[in-house]
Amino acid sequence: LIQLFVPLNLLGFVYREIRQSLIDMDYLFGLLDRDQEIADKVDAVPLVVKGGEVRFQAVDFGYDPRRQILHDLSFHVPPGKTVAIVGPSGAGKSTLSRILYRFYDITAGAVLIDGMDIRDVTQKSLRQAIGIVPQDTVLFNESIAYNIRYGRPDASDEDIRQAARFARIDGFIDQLPDGYETLVGERGLKLSGGEKQRVAIARTILKDPPILLLDEATSALDSRTEREIQEAIEQISRNRTTLVIAHRLSTVVNADEILVLDQGRIIERGAHESLLLAQGTYHAMWQRQLDGSPSDV
Ligand code: ATP
Repeated sequence: LIQLFVPLNLLGFVYREIRQSLIDMDYLFGLLDRDQEIADKVDAVPLVVKGGEVRFQAVDFGYDPRRQILHDLSFHVPPGKTVAIVGPSGAGKSTLSRILYRFYDITAGAVLIDGMDIRDVTQKSLRQAIGIVPQDTVLFNESIAYNIRYGRPDASDEDIRQAARFARIDGFIDQLPDGYETLVGERGLKLSGGEKQRVAIARTILKDPPILLLDEATSALDSRTEREIQEAIEQISRNRTTLVIAHRLSTVVNADEILVLDQGRIIERGAHESLLLAQGTYHAMWQRQLDGSPSDV
């Protein structure tokens, strides 16, 4: 039996690894368009995360060498802090997060985590250090518990409940007839965007990565859901270096720094109050939101 067990166990491991990358990949947007694969250097070393500082240093990037998308981008997220990125559609917000996850290599400059160039470390260690909460999470046709446990396969039922509590999704789950055993996904209970995002947050809380990439859902939420999501985001980003593509005022107001991106350039940066005082693009975006128009932050 043991002879069978070992390969089966290994198979299970490989299967989980593949599914994990698939999950991460639901965030990867145009991966299929990618023509070149990113390979580890022969002497790549594992990333050693201490505080989890993220630094973009004079980064240039284009998907196509003939069309540059990011221009001389420099910023840093100190350990445990939150930087929010705002800006119009097509500004390069998602591109920036794909670069941190190293789906693509940059054409000039460097991206560093705790001083290590991400091109010098193994992709596995890089991706282990980063948790992603995508805009639209794809759930498995399995129970809610399974979908949350996915963040850490050895998590106990109590760990899962606790993660759900932190993610503010426990109340919703508790009132379902089958609770945590409720089947979700395409063939089960269809969750709303906000509910799915909170399941993804619970999953990431279990994974417990030092660095977080968060892509807020753009869809309109009722104020209670928005508050719950905001609480969940605060919970998950506490003491974690967080880069958030922000669409909600509540998120940007709380960020340590806001970067306003436009056509691949940072055109304004600072905390909420100082950006408002500057009366520039950010101020105009804020006014539009207050007026209730559907544009991005
Ligand atoms: P949105 O708010 O609409 O998601 P964004 O700010 O995240 O926009 P990106 O998705 O980063 O913008 O896109 C920046 C630019 O890069 C766009 O002009 C887009 O056309 C281009 N782009 C994005 N993905 C690819 C790709 N896979 N191949 C080629 N060009 C791409």
